[in-house]
Amino acid sequence: MESKKTGSALVSGGSIGGLFAAAALMRAGWTVKIYERTDVELAGRGAGIVTHDRLIKALKAVGAEIADLGVDVEMRAVFDRSGAVVSQQHYPQIVTSWDRMHRILRALVPEGTYHLGRTIIRYENRDACIVATFDDGSTEEADVLIGADGFRSAIRGQMHPDIQPEYSGYVVWRALAEESAIPADVHSRVFADFGFFLPNGTQMIGYPIAGAENDLRPGHRRYNFVWYAAFSEDELRDMLTDAQGRYHPVSIPPPLVRDDVLDDMNKAARNLLPPEIFDILQHSKRPFFTPIYDLWSPTFNDGRVALAGDAACVARPHVGMGVTKAAEDALALARLLDATDVPGALEAYSKTRAPLSRDARDLGRRLGSYIFERSHPQNDDGRNHPDMDVIVRETAAILED
Ligand SMILES: Cc1cc2nc3c(=O)[nH]c(=O)nc-3n(C[C@H](O)[C@H](O)[C@H](O)COP(=O)(O)OP(=O)(O)OC[C@H]3O[C@@H](n4cnc5c(N)ncnc54)[C@H](O)[C@@H]3O)c2cc1C
Repeated sequence: MESKKTGSALVSGGSIGGLFAAAALMRAGWTVKIYERTDVELAGRGAGIVTHDRLIKALKAVGAEIADLGVDVEMRAVFDRSGAVVSQQHYPQIVTSWDRMHRILRALVPEGTYHLGRTIIRYENRDACIVATFDDGSTEEADVLIGADGFRSAIRGQMHPDIQPEYSGYVVWRALAEESAIPADVHSRVFADFGFFLPNGTQMIGYPIAGAENDLRPGHRRYNFVWYAAFSEDELRDMLTDAQGRYHPVSIPPPLVRDDVLDDMNKAARNLLPPEIFDILQHSKRPFFTPIYDLWSPTFNDGRVALAGDAACVARPHVGMGVTKAAEDALALARLLDATDVPGALEAYSKTRAPLSRDARDLGRRLGSYIFERSHPQNDDGRNHPDMDVIVRETAAILED
């Protein structure tokens, strides 16, 4: 096989996308430095992550330790407003957590290569290298720069100033309940399955994940609550405003979500959700919300700079594809990068990954459209969604190649 020349890489962003890229490049022989803006070790972000064979393959390819990856779920079940099961599909799947995924990948990156509290704000392409500039004015040179700095990426902002996240018209509320806090009768009816509630105009899903410190023992796990709810731009603006009247564009840190916003969410949940699910919500830690955006960069490269993960493309969470997509970006980078012609290799990378990412974005939009654009006159109780089977079959269920 033709061998490629390796060199030095800078990675902007030390979350899942950045760690995957770093791990894959290091395994291919590159010298990598990761720069993460946050100044403390990342933890507790997001909640559940649904896995697929493609993700497991990618984890193995970067040398990750995947024993006890998560909770095994056998069935998908649709509940109606009363909590009765109206449909079931057999769909075995491992569900894990953001923390677990981050920890597995973080363990692949040796000390000294991961730098917290460093923010890359721009880049300059030169003939023989890329120069990254930090917010303190310092600079760093390398053969290649990977922008894995998330959906508000500074690197993408420079590469594609016109590409901005587009609000989809709904947010996702998320919460985690300790398994031990869930009443036994609710637990026996809801906990084990990947559950759905699909009335007109909203959607709830939920499933078990590991407890703290990847505790998979029965009684020590958690229930991951996910609820998609529509809000206008004006309503969203209000929800993104904290108790001090400060507006947080795009997303608000969870502790700053106002109490009255949470009260409204609880009232709506009481009126809408099956009683068992509402009960779990009442036993959850403080819920938080994330607005759902669409984003796709038509190209992922500019000279010696590449975009990866959410910086390059955001697919709505219905596809459960964000981590897998970031992983496959990383593997493609490691496969294609050649220090003798970095711009050429990144051109090939972009041509490979941008269309596949657009497909993921489009699938996420389609699954989202089933919630909000399709309804049924007798579906207020969630028994008659016209697309019930396809939603249950395709949510977080990547078709294998
Ligand atoms: C409700 C919900 C459910 C989801 N469920 C799933 C699922 O089931 N399966 C799945 O695969 N995916 C899921 N995802 C998506 C997944 O979490 C992300 O797509 C994935 O983690 C990729 O993230 P990333 O590392 O590219 O970006 P991010 O996680 O956004 O990380 C970017 C990092 O860059 C840092 N940074 C930002 N700017 C700079 C800078 N200028 N310099 C240095 N560092 C910087 C940030 O601090 C951050 O740590 C879900 C997402 C949501 C919202």
